[in-house]
Amino acid sequence: MSEETAVVRRTKSTNCAFCGKLVRRIKMYYRNGKYYCSKRCFKKMQEKLAKEKESEQAS
Ligand SMILES: [Zn+2]
Repeated sequence: MSEETAVVRRTKSTNCAFCGKLVRRIKMYYRNGKYYCSKRCFKKMQEKLAKEKESEQAS
């Protein structure tokens, strides 16, 4: 977890859906209704979601 997550949401800023880092508009990566700070975080999130789905189906 990054320090940014502890900061009270005063400003309407966007955080990366995966790592929680503050996403600057210029670097914003928008996919499937969520914002990511980079393409890498998006890929990691997809992997995470895929794994979660797998475990759901396994149980
Ligand atoms: Zn990120």
